[in-house]
Formats: sequence, C-alpha cells, structure tokens
Amino acid sequence: MFRIEEDWELETRPRCFVLEDYTGQTPRWCPGCGDHAVLTALQRVCRDEQLPPEKTVVVSGIGCSSRLPHYVNTYGFHGLHGRALPVACGIRARRPDLHIFVVTGDGDCCAIGTGHWIHAIRYNMKMVVLMLDNHIYGLTKKQTSPTTPKGHPSFTHPRGSPISPLNPLTVTLATSNVSFVAQTVDWNAPHLYATLSAAHRHPGLAFVRILQRCPHYMPDEYEPIRTDPRRVALLAHPDGIVLEDAVARLFPNKVEHDPADHRQAMAIAAHEPPTPIGLLYRNPDAERYDLETARGIDLPLAEKLGAIQAAIDRHRI
Ligand code: SF4
Repeated sequence: MFRIEEDWELETRPRCFVLEDYTGQTPRWCPGCGDHAVLTALQRVCRDEQLPPEKTVVVSGIGCSSRLPHYVNTYGFHGLHGRALPVACGIRARRPDLHIFVVTGDGDCCAIGTGHWIHAIRYNMKMVVLMLDNHIYGLTKKQTSPTTPKGHPSFTHPRGSPISPLNPLTVTLATSNVSFVAQTVDWNAPHLYATLSAAHRHPGLAFVRILQRCPHYMPDEYEPIRTDPRRVALLAHPDGIVLEDAVARLFPNKVEHDPADHRQAMAIAAHEPPTPIGLLYRNPDAERYDLETARGIDLPLAEKLGAIQAAIDRHRI
C-alpha cells in the first residue's frame, strides 16, 4: 500500500517559460490583420515577464480581436459583446493573484460596452486593457463603429458615416480616477511590445489603444501614418515608453511630454494630426477599487461563513 512519509515534501523545480508555453490554437484572422502582431507582442510580454500560464487570464468580448483568448495557452474567457470589462473586474475582485489582460475592439468597448468602459477606468483595478481600434465592425462585415471617420462608407452608411467619431483617448482621459492611457500601433513591433510591457508593470488599470489594421475592410485606413512617420508624434520622456535609439530614430517628429501632465495629455489627444503614440498619462497613485474591497478574501472559511450569518441575522425580523 502506498504510504506518504510525514516529512515528505513535494519536489518543485524552477520553471522557465518559452513562447511555445503561451501558444494556443492557430489564429483564424485574415492574412495581414493587425491582430496577429498584438498576439505576438502579448505572448512575448508573458514570456519575458515569466507569467505562469495557469496564473494568467485573457478576457474578451465579441469581435475579430476578441478571438484572441483562443490563441494563447492561458486561462481565457471569450465573453459577451461589450462585457469583457465587468468579467475582468469580477476576476480581479476574487483572484488578485492572477495577471489579467482584456482584449476588446472599438465596437465592443466604445459602443455596447461604453458604460462598463467608463466605470472600469474609474475602478482602476489592476489589469491591462488592449483596445484594438480598426475603425470598423469587422466580424459583422463592415458596419460603422463609434470610431469610424466621418464620411467613410460602410454597409450601414453607404454614403459615409454622417458624424465625427468618438475619441477613445479623450474619453478615457476625462474619466474620474484614470491612471494609465497609452497609444501604440500594430505595425511597429518594438513600440507595441514596450507599451504592453509598461502597461503590465503599471499598478492599476492600464488602457492601451492600439491602432490596428483591418486589410479586409479598411485597407487604406492607416496607410498614411504607416508609410509616412512624419504624420506620427512620438511622445518622449524618461517616465514614458522608452525605446532603443535605433527604433526612436525612425520617428522624426518627437514631442516632449511628461505623462504626469494630464492637461497636456488631453491637448495632445484632442488635437491630432499628428497622431500621438506613447504614454499620454500615468498616475500610479490613483485609488484602486480592488485594494479597497480585498479585505476578507483571505479569511478562513469558518470566519467568512460567520460573517455571512451575522449579516443575515442583522436583517432577520
Ligand atoms: Fe482582421 Fe479585419 Fe479580417 Fe477581422 S475582418 S480578421 S479585423 S482583417
């Protein structure tokens, strides 16, 4: 009969994760879709930060980009349209030990999910939110989204979107208790990777808008800024997204911007062109809902049940 010695201890060995440890199903995105680059950057961040796959969760809503949880070998939750953020907040509330990444699109986040977006920013629970903005509903075949440029035709507006788009950067920056807002692009891998790394290290909710190419429905949308770096303003500061000189040299147009300066962040976000990329705003001291409400999570079960019973007794007639 198998017997466990009293002084027996489980042998644990140091683990070292490689990219393959984060590789899930084969992506089904279109060739050339910017989502591929975001997936690669996310997997590299997980590998370089040595995040245990069983301690990492990727949450999404509905849309092309929201298929991403299937393509990483971590825990994942492919949720309902616009509902990625409340799911992620729920996970953070009960499992503060997990690394949480949220993947959402411009339709998912800025239309049906707007209420959750605003309140998640205010709650400032620790997670990274990747908002992939391709200016269109791709999964449902080219419908006008909240960020579609005015005049751009779609199947819902064949004569062009009749009104100006919503600006996700200014909306996020204007939300109470905002703590981290950055913008990057899918076609510059070093900047994308550096932005995701900085977002992961931020002690709160890091909102990253990623300008994402959709070659299927919006083939020319980002071509002007992709092919002409003078149309991009690289936000430069020691406290911002720091790039190697060889990468920073590719951007002739640099703007000195201290990410602690909220007023200037709003001005930069509101007055493009040029299109800003980099860290617009960071406040590591913003209040955190998850820290304020974490009391009691680690209580022994008997104490938790006792607290629940006491609460019920208080309302007994
Ligand atoms: Fe990507 Fe657009 Fe294809 Fe969707 S439709 S997978 S966003 S290229």
